[in-house]
Amino acid sequence: MDYLNLHAINAPYEAEIKNALLQVVDSGWYLFGCQVTLFEQEWAHYCGYTLDEGQSHSCVACASGLDALRLVLRAWMEMGLLQKGDEVVVPANTYIASILAVSDNGLVPVPVEPDPQTYLISPDAIEAAVTPRTRAILPVHLYGQLCDMDRIMSIAGKHSLLVLEDCAQCHGVAGNYLGDAQAWSFYPGKNLGALGDAGAVTSSNPQLIQTIRQLAFYGSSKKYVHRFKGLNSRMDELQAAVLRIKLQDLDNCNRKRMEIAARYAAEVHNPKLQLPVALRPHVFHIYPVLTENRDALRQHLDACSIATQVHYPIPPHRQEAYQEWASLHFPITEHIAAHELSIPCHQAMTDADVQLVIDSLNSF
Ligand SMILES: *Cc1c(COP(=O)(O)O)cnc(C)c1O
Repeated sequence: MDYLNLHAINAPYEAEIKNALLQVVDSGWYLFGCQVTLFEQEWAHYCGYTLDEGQSHSCVACASGLDALRLVLRAWMEMGLLQKGDEVVVPANTYIASILAVSDNGLVPVPVEPDPQTYLISPDAIEAAVTPRTRAILPVHLYGQLCDMDRIMSIAGKHSLLVLEDCAQCHGVAGNYLGDAQAWSFYPGKNLGALGDAGAVTSSNPQLIQTIRQLAFYGSSKKYVHRFKGLNSRMDELQAAVLRIKLQDLDNCNRKRMEIAARYAAEVHNPKLQLPVALRPHVFHIYPVLTENRDALRQHLDACSIATQVHYPIPPHRQEAYQEWASLHFPITEHIAAHELSIPCHQAMTDADVQLVIDSLNSF
């Protein structure tokens, strides 16, 4: 059993996708077309934003999840809300892209420990890290579970901080997005995945969306007039056409992930394994299991023909890219990095696959 088989994930839509791709090819229009505009509107609507006269003021598509994060921070700098050197509180336990976006803008990422139960950024740790230079918080809804946004928003309110949610792993999670902006990745392996790179930003602030739209198009407000030293980051029509098709089935796919996770929770009984705890809405992009001897579990599952992954083996503060953090210690983050194993949990699994995973975890 593969950890994630993208061919199997996309197979239910194969005919529809091929047809849509062909239509885009035939249209002769590959960027800035109706597919991207419609996807922006549909995604904004799906995320709970109301549409304003058919215009998308709540969503702007871009080239990747990392770009979505970078563009929000860059826009806030252009809008005078952030300055170089400002501190942004980030989770120590995350995929490094969340943090790269902060560094890339000349802002200072301040990593903090996760909650030991959910492995998501701890509100207490955020509160303890706030200094007079702190200007923003970047919670990551890692594995597909919402962070404790009520507490995070109340800390943000108390200290007048901006909140950028990294939503790369939480497409379609129930509940509201409470932060000032959400950054999305549609990397092929995400719960809503394209056939290549794609990303988007959502926000209830039309000025932010407008600024990002310009920044992502060479900083241009209209053709050959440049307001910012911008960049080029856009979603193409082919990816938008694919995402529009898959979006229609996203709730169904997430429901299947949640059902599989519920079966694991009910049927895996092995004191050697620490199963994930869902304290808040969770769409199980990743099903992280902690165990003392990860290598042994990995080998056991491998012998049962079950592929696994590790999210993530080396935390950002242990990476060469962040040498300046080499002396920092984040015991909870390091514990997760040393003991986490991700097991298959997705809509293309058959009942027999799920049963095999359960039996194999129980026989470890
Ligand atoms: C995938 C991911 C990203 C980066 O998205 P890309 O589209 O690959 O640039 C950022 N943050 C998290 C938490 C991710 O999982």
